[in-house]
Amino acid sequence: MSSRLVLLAWHSINVTGTTYADNDLVALGEDLVRLDRLGWTILPLGDALAARAAGTLPERTVCLTLDDGSVMDWHRFDHPTAGLQVPARDRLASFARALPADSRHRPHASVFVLASPEARAEMDRVDYFSLGVWGDDWWAAANRSGRMSIENHSWDHNHPSLARTAGPADRPRDFLAIDTEATCRAEIEPASDYIERTAGRRPRYFAYPWGQASDYLRAEFLPTFGASIGLDAALGCEPGPVTSASDRWFLPRYVCGRDWTSPEGLEAVLRDAAA
Ligand SMILES: [Zn+2]
Repeated sequence: MSSRLVLLAWHSINVTGTTYADNDLVALGEDLVRLDRLGWTILPLGDALAARAAGTLPERTVCLTLDDGSVMDWHRFDHPTAGLQVPARDRLASFARALPADSRHRPHASVFVLASPEARAEMDRVDYFSLGVWGDDWWAAANRSGRMSIENHSWDHNHPSLARTAGPADRPRDFLAIDTEATCRAEIEPASDYIERTAGRRPRYFAYPWGQASDYLRAEFLPTFGASIGLDAALGCEPGPVTSASDRWFLPRYVCGRDWTSPEGLEAVLRDAAA
């Protein structure tokens, strides 16, 4: 049994080419096979955290997360430069289909989405040529599939591409600026409400946009109000394994494209995490 847990993140919006290094979907597909081959066990985040708390977490357990919630998490998508994309959903399904009936894996991804429909529509227009990459028509099906859970990645990411956000108007557009009770609540609670209404399940986890957590959000707001909003834990992007020393409201996570950019890179990350 282990108290260590590895959380990995990919972004299905990170598609600029067709190879591992420039396409997170290709990387995810290869990484699933490699995780299996290297002896890691893939479990849903909720199950792994519960097993960890109960002292029954298997050695070398990994959880998969997808940030931002582009349609390429779920839908086949004809990308203007990279061609037809096989979504994360299909990559998880092919991996799962190839497993034996008694497999140790329960392939699943926690998908952290931006909730605000207006923010997603505006980002689509401003940054994504109105390609329709930020729709939410698939969220409920994803939750029902048993292969994905839709989780909270804030109301609008306090994103600089938006004309206005729930964050403070007089501060830089990053998530460190979300540091008062009013702005923390505005970025988190309506997001959980909207996701619950739209996707049929209230999020249990929050992932900080860009991995940025103000001291107030991480050490005061979430410990005080997180449970009443329905949240059990929050994920950052500090590279490292979850250990017994980890802050439940700032769990570390490795990110594809930053912490590894090749299959060998992932292998090195896993070696470090297990050491
Ligand atoms: Zn994000």
